[in-house]
Amino acid sequence: MSTEAPSTPQKINLRRPDIMEAVQAQVLSHYRSELVERIRANGNVVSAGGLTVKLAKEFGFCYGVERAIDLAYAARKVFPNQPIYILGEIIHNPEVNDQIRAMGIKSLSGKEKDADVDDLKKDDIVIIPAFGTEVATREKLQAKGCRFVDTTCGDVMSVWKRVRQYSNDRVTSIIHGKAWHEETKATSSQTTNRGGHYLVVFTLAETDYVCNFILKGGSKEEFLNKFKGAYSEGFDPDVHLQAIGVANQTTMLRGETEEVQRRLRNAMTEKYGTDKVEQHFRFFDTICGATQDRQDALEKLLRVPINLLLVIGGYNSSNTSHLAEMGEAKLPTYFIKNAAKMVSDKVIFHYNQHIGKEVETSDWLPSGNITVGITAGASCPNNLIEDTIRRLFELRGISVQDLLGAK
Ligand code: SF4
Repeated sequence: MSTEAPSTPQKINLRRPDIMEAVQAQVLSHYRSELVERIRANGNVVSAGGLTVKLAKEFGFCYGVERAIDLAYAARKVFPNQPIYILGEIIHNPEVNDQIRAMGIKSLSGKEKDADVDDLKKDDIVIIPAFGTEVATREKLQAKGCRFVDTTCGDVMSVWKRVRQYSNDRVTSIIHGKAWHEETKATSSQTTNRGGHYLVVFTLAETDYVCNFILKGGSKEEFLNKFKGAYSEGFDPDVHLQAIGVANQTTMLRGETEEVQRRLRNAMTEKYGTDKVEQHFRFFDTICGATQDRQDALEKLLRVPINLLLVIGGYNSSNTSHLAEMGEAKLPTYFIKNAAKMVSDKVIFHYNQHIGKEVETSDWLPSGNITVGITAGASCPNNLIEDTIRRLFELRGISVQDLLGAK
């Protein structure tokens, strides 16, 4: 637990109607797509020359991302000449992050780092991204007297509330998520700030390992090695797995999260008995509504006959990667960050999340009558979806302007 007494946080309220109205036009000019809106109005389908494109019913920017972007733009508008810093990527989309950088907002982490948190001074303006940030970082900034533009999504804060409650009740948080992801790091820090413990599990195989340890015990050293970097300081699997509460990163795959909690509940039931399990096991579904809507819409889209699926979004975007996983399980799926990846109808470069790099596939776009499904992660703007649709038709020699009379 931090012993530092932070000064009062200086939050800047930018969500005033006059400010937000002024930034709307700029945000729309960067990310809006008239073409996508027209296709939506047309039942999410567009067809020409034997090529049919079907959009999932829900895709692209979620409310949390829209709010974060609006606030970053508003900060620039209100403080046009003052240095503004951002703790990391505002969202996981390279195009959006480039745009934020082009507005002169300086990054405090990552490959394109412009400055360090230690360099900041009193009254400097710092944007907290939609994923939130770790308690220690927030306290450090507060102690320096920095001013915050806090874009943390409300759904992320709901997870924090849940794990804080677990810690208050001396229940270890088992977080289904990616230990290296900003959101999960921020969530984890909420447990230790209350003197609690956490363990992050990512896969079902890791979940099974934990279940096995709960039931049969094992080598503590091996356990700690296996989960290195994914548990709280002082975490002891012999002690801290006796009462557990499951929460999840907001953007995980719903079915997998349910399976994680089911397996852990079964293990705790077997160990402590049905009548005592409530004292040892808790669960709260913290997948956000936007993630759920996009997964549900894709599930529906995958029920109709389509030849291939394009998933558009940043390669480090958690919710996008899960959409790609859902597609891969059913049909040829290409996870691309922009339309330029469709080099020709013969060659496409796309992200293989299982090996963590872009790969090339040949003869990806069949000739003849085909249907291509498209979805996009919660951090993907509509203009990138439009580029993808245009490129697809262009590869068939068709101009979308002609098709829909779009500008
Ligand atoms: S994906 Fe969910 S949690 Fe993340 S910003 Fe969007 S609404 Fe919020």
